[in-house]
Amino acid sequence: MTDGELAQARLHEIAEASLEGPGVTRLPWTREHRDANRLIGIWMKDAGLDVSLDAAGTLVGRSPNAGSKPLILLGSHQDSVRQGGRYDGIMGIALACLVARRFRDRWSDLPVAISVLAFADEEGVRFPTALIGPRALAGTLDPSVFELADADGIRMSDAMRDFGLESERASALAMRTPPVKAYLECHIEQGPILEDNALPVGVVTGICGITRIAVTFAGETGHAGTVPMSGRRDALVGAAQFVDEVNRTVSNLSDLRATVGQFDVRPNVVNAIPNEVRLTLEIRGTDDVNRASFKQEMHQVASRIANTADLNLIWTPTYDQPAIACDAALRRALAAGVRQTGHRVLELPSGATHDSSAMADLCPVGMLFVRCRNGVSHRPDEFASADDMAVAIDVCETAIRGIADQTE
Ligand SMILES: [Zn+2]
Repeated sequence: MTDGELAQARLHEIAEASLEGPGVTRLPWTREHRDANRLIGIWMKDAGLDVSLDAAGTLVGRSPNAGSKPLILLGSHQDSVRQGGRYDGIMGIALACLVARRFRDRWSDLPVAISVLAFADEEGVRFPTALIGPRALAGTLDPSVFELADADGIRMSDAMRDFGLESERASALAMRTPPVKAYLECHIEQGPILEDNALPVGVVTGICGITRIAVTFAGETGHAGTVPMSGRRDALVGAAQFVDEVNRTVSNLSDLRATVGQFDVRPNVVNAIPNEVRLTLEIRGTDDVNRASFKQEMHQVASRIANTADLNLIWTPTYDQPAIACDAALRRALAAGVRQTGHRVLELPSGATHDSSAMADLCPVGMLFVRCRNGVSHRPDEFASADDMAVAIDVCETAIRGIADQTE
């Protein structure tokens, strides 16, 4: 059995640690999480790692050569969305264990130590927050999140206590010593670019920053039959123009994505002129300056539309998350690993947030994307092949050797 086939078998087995229903549903600090950690613990021990659970619920597998050697962290998240797939997150943990296993009998020769991290929650499905594990390690955890409750009214601190954790200790986890050289994460691409390029893996350049704006166009309602077309202040006509201009403008900009995802029309009645439309604009891109200037440009577009159609405009920025750059040296190390496998190196940005986003506050981060069938993710039919996962394991092994060589 190849390491890719072993990864596939393990991912099928751990998919059973799930709530009933189609696909995988595994939320943090639950029985399913406990079942998953039991299997991940077996994978870690098989890799020759010492297993422990930290105060945030991250299962940690440490190489026995840790001591004062610089540390390379490998990992991803164990949790899933509701009725998700078998690969998002958990694949990164399965591959990390198999990468670590390549060094199992030679720890003392290695000038770096390796820890595999299986984070509790990245998806933010159970509680209205996420990335507790990496934030705890990076020292960026806001302790007020422990008071947040899930849909059943269970506070996060209580859920963690029932899981055997003392949430108060999570804030003190920040690992400053030994020095952390790198965090490397393998993740399915969740998009179609690798498949379109017929490549098994790709090196991630950075994780997109996110800007969100709440936009309201306000006009005046009236009878759909009696108010003449001229002089109407139809908020929906203005909002529709805006959506069209956002879409047309961003389509000419290769490094940005922009989406109007919510659209609320009032009074939303068949025979009344719409007097108000509330919508959201979300902009993603790896360049903070480009994202900010697109936001500015769209504000001007919205203002022009509102002026022309005699509408009032309310423009309220609601969220801004800066982009995260993947470390240049780690990108080179991963690219060298890809070349070693005989494949072309494709670099691509991540449009989705990952554990790496929070780990970037702790140490340099590098990410490798693995091709997923039809670009599908967050669905039961999510799939990555054993062959592609085998390539990812080889790439990471070479990358770690490269990083280790620079450490000697
Ligand atoms: Zn994920």
